[in-house]
Amino acid sequence: MKNKITFLFLLFSFSFLYGQTQLPCSYEAIVERMSINNPNIEEELKENEKFIADFLKHKDQRDPTSEYVIPVVMHVFHDGDDGMMGMEQALSGLEVLNNDFNGLNDGWETIDPAFDPIKGTLDITFCLATIDPDGNPTTGINYYDDPSAMLNQGNLFQHAWDNRKYLNIYFPKYTNGAPSDFTAYAYYPSEANVLNNTDGIFYSSIRWGYGEHSELDEGQDWASVCSHEAGHWLNLRHTFEFGCNGDGDYVKDTPLTLGSGIELQGCNNNDFSCDVQTNGSNFMDYNHDCKKMFTQGQVDRMLAALQLPARNNLWSYENLVATGCQDFAVGTKDLAKDKSIQVFPNPATNEVQIRAQAEMQELALYTLDGTLVETKNINSMDYTLTVDHLDSGIYFYKILSNNKMMNGKIMIVK
Ligand SMILES: [Zn+2]
Repeated sequence: MKNKITFLFLLFSFSFLYGQTQLPCSYEAIVERMSINNPNIEEELKENEKFIADFLKHKDQRDPTSEYVIPVVMHVFHDGDDGMMGMEQALSGLEVLNNDFNGLNDGWETIDPAFDPIKGTLDITFCLATIDPDGNPTTGINYYDDPSAMLNQGNLFQHAWDNRKYLNIYFPKYTNGAPSDFTAYAYYPSEANVLNNTDGIFYSSIRWGYGEHSELDEGQDWASVCSHEAGHWLNLRHTFEFGCNGDGDYVKDTPLTLGSGIELQGCNNNDFSCDVQTNGSNFMDYNHDCKKMFTQGQVDRMLAALQLPARNNLWSYENLVATGCQDFAVGTKDLAKDKSIQVFPNPATNEVQIRAQAEMQELALYTLDGTLVETKNINSMDYTLTVDHLDSGIYFYKILSNNKMMNGKIMIVK
């Protein structure tokens, strides 16, 4: 399978060299795509640059311990089993993304000494939402049996969940209506796009994570294209944007470069393309065989992007509660400590103890697909829920306590 992918991408590179294919996520391609729903995009991006320059001037005043959580919803478009990425594969891709941003990826300790001192991490967690826009439990993954949408034909944005609350990731299998070498593309931060729900990331379901419906080998760096796209979504450009003589990517510690080729040839292909060593291990390079790091300069730029109106509601504590991601809100430790409900043990086998700071009135338990399996009237601050008759799996609970509805997950293991 890997050989097939190599061949496809050699073909892709060949086509690119001869001008027949536009890079799917070059600055021009992203702006062109965004301008369809936002005619003022170029003006908005200029305003973003002013905001970012100002933020970076004062960045020492920011809280250096800031940690961010981004609720995610995934939309999977398939034709029966074709393109039907399952939960395990979806989560494996998300794990790659979270590991990469936090320096927990396999390649983090083997970066070329020329670039190791400038590597940086962004304390961010991409969290699969557990509450949908109507306040109901969700797996965070929506499936659409739609052969046309699977080829990225038609308006996939019609399925968007509120872009102010969720990072929407769309998973067609291919793009342009036919089998393709498409891996992914993303949208830069734009408030206008967010407000009309045309923001997000588009990603081939056969190149996301590892598993049954993925073409990638377990551990293959190609899966880190997700971090490349999340980089664009947080306003990063390619390290090679505009070549040796342009404006580059507006990041100080990523000098102008032509970048590495997309070919699977390790970390050092096309080295010294603009007379400086080429960082083939940078996530924002196009080298699909070696993806290991962001630089500190790129991290600072993404940190600034998180403060933009297009992004700053996503990680607010109120939004994390609304989307069921508050348990990941490590940056809001005091609030997280003040959890109104304790559920233990979790995972559980026979019984779950539930303890609240105020009297609980009702409890409801749902399966992953939203089927109601239990309702209980409680009227107590302590309750023992028997679960020995339930199958292994993840369940969502809703508990009404003190006029507040609280949500969470219980895992049952037999
Ligand atoms: Zn790109």
